[in-house]
Amino acid sequence: YPQDIEETARRSHPLLEAGCGAAFTVGDNGSQRLVLIHEVRRNGSTDFTPALQAVCTAVLDEHDLSLDVLVLVRNGTIHRTSSGKIQRHACRTAYLAGDLKILAEYPDPAAAATAGCCAFANSEAAYDSSSIAHHDVHSLPPDAFFAVCQHARELAKTALPYLTPNMPLSALGLDSLQRLGLMAELEKAFSGHLPDAVFSQAKTLGDVAQGVQKYLIDNRKAGAPVGPIVPEYYTFDMFPEYLQLKRHESMLRAVTGEIPYFRVDQGGDGNAAHIDGRRLVNFCVYDYIGMAHDPEVIAAAKAAIDRYGTSAGASRLVSGEKQVHRDLEQELAGFLGVPAAIAFVSGHATNVTTIGHLLGPDDLILHDTLAHNSIIQGAELSGATHRAFAHNDWMALDAMLCESRHRYRRVLIAIEGVYSMDGDLPELPRFIALKKKHKTLMLVDEAHSLGTLGESGRGIGEHWAVARSDVDLWMGTLSKSLASCGGYIAGSAELVEYLKYTAPGFVYSVGMSPPSAAAALAALKVLQREPQRVVRLHELTGLFLDLAKTHGLNTGSAAGSPVIPVIVGNSVKSLQLSNALFDRGINVLPILSPAVPDHSSRLRFFITTNHSAGQIRDAVSAVADELAKLQHQENMSRRSTANSAEHAL
Ligand code: PMP
Repeated sequence: YPQDIEETARRSHPLLEAGCGAAFTVGDNGSQRLVLIHEVRRNGSTDFTPALQAVCTAVLDEHDLSLDVLVLVRNGTIHRTSSGKIQRHACRTAYLAGDLKILAEYPDPAAAATAGCCAFANSEAAYDSSSIAHHDVHSLPPDAFFAVCQHARELAKTALPYLTPNMPLSALGLDSLQRLGLMAELEKAFSGHLPDAVFSQAKTLGDVAQGVQKYLIDNRKAGAPVGPIVPEYYTFDMFPEYLQLKRHESMLRAVTGEIPYFRVDQGGDGNAAHIDGRRLVNFCVYDYIGMAHDPEVIAAAKAAIDRYGTSAGASRLVSGEKQVHRDLEQELAGFLGVPAAIAFVSGHATNVTTIGHLLGPDDLILHDTLAHNSIIQGAELSGATHRAFAHNDWMALDAMLCESRHRYRRVLIAIEGVYSMDGDLPELPRFIALKKKHKTLMLVDEAHSLGTLGESGRGIGEHWAVARSDVDLWMGTLSKSLASCGGYIAGSAELVEYLKYTAPGFVYSVGMSPPSAAAALAALKVLQREPQRVVRLHELTGLFLDLAKTHGLNTGSAAGSPVIPVIVGNSVKSLQLSNALFDRGINVLPILSPAVPDHSSRLRFFITTNHSAGQIRDAVSAVADELAKLQHQENMSRRSTANSAEHAL
């Protein structure tokens, strides 16, 4: 609600306290911009930067919203009715017409012009007249809205009240399964496909109706030009997505000073990152069992270059096949206890091409809601219907399968051995039981569980002691425990044979580079000879978790895998904490919204056998220390805001 944003802004800085603000959106439906005009008290100084920063930070913090434009104007500028009510529409018109006398604004137009990004045009032509998401019954497509209401009434068990476009889906009493059913019924009725985003993002009946209109009724491509073809359709640096990225970047810079991405590691001894001439203890790499700098692994990669050269030179199907590829696949299959394996050039591409190839439009893919992007991309590519079930919730999955298994040809359940944001694991036997009950296929992505789970590092299958044949596709990457680059699918001989002849990402792509294949093969052999590496990894992980508990850090659902989140609570604080640790010689990256919900923004630690117990102790106490400092600062600034408010009264 605009008034919430305005209230947050008013409280965020003493200069704004006596004034009022107006929040509204401008832009077309595809790229809405959030604008806030706020009055400030003149204080003799011309530098309003602290006030601008305070407002942006507070709005981001409290509402998880990035202000696209913030304009500070003199007290008394904002239009009000005689009863004191803010006239947002009049403010918006004045803003668009360029009639406001601006004291300061974010983004700074001069800086934006020199940086070559996001100079906002204040011309009415660039915007439509939409305001903050609210459906007007007259502007909604009647067929779509009627269809949505009709299907909703059929699905609801109780009589539904008079339905309006702004009615929240939650108010209809439809549970999540019934809502899923609503989407399926609409797809059936209009013979089309509703993207997952409609289901996951729709909050009201009007939102669903708009999705139906856009994807099922109106065949016009979303975002196709209605008028002339403007430069933002063909000039890359004017793409709205690019401008949005730049705005996000400048917002992060304004809030935290430095962006922690793409820092260059100059290389070194494997135990640490070497950045800007400093040596940092590194918690950002997933070299879980210390293979990336193992002398045997390095020697194997070098020997492969001497023997085969640096490239496979062609697709393996047509003369790129090397003995080292065969050896790697055989070793992987033997290690996992399955008949065969196939290695791909990338872990991400392994999921995309395998899922995209094995499933089709008549099929259904059900994946954990925290599934990796490569699984979702594969599902998109396949054309199958795909839906997420609640994280690790096999009962929710069972309910979805009971409801919909019979409507599809093949059904794939896709889960992971260790989830890469939370470090927790699924109850694999429960999922296997469902796979058998509902006659589905199952893929388990072992990117983070191979080499880390089970006594000898054979992954989640070993952890739960399941029969290997109970999972159809044991997928994994070579880039984590196996210190290389690539991915694999291990399973039946027939599956592997079929993929080798037909999977596009295998057939139409070069074979893995020989040194990469040789490195993974050598790492696999070292792991089998030295299972104590896995034992050591478990000890270090346990140590981190115990210490974190002692210091009162929130590690969420981390369950003994080497992926350990420290949940901080919001994106700004996570960034600040990561930067503070960086200054103290600890390299750990923040995971921010939208990768995780803002309230669970976090730092993510990857523990490896390269770490010493001392480094882990130091890191945990540094986190606790810096977090306490941030908390103290936050309390102080809250107190000073409260004091100023009291003063004003
Ligand atoms: N699956 C999961 C669960 C992952 O976390 C990742 C990447 N970290 C991948 C697949 C893709 O693997 P790669 O980085 O080796 O391409």
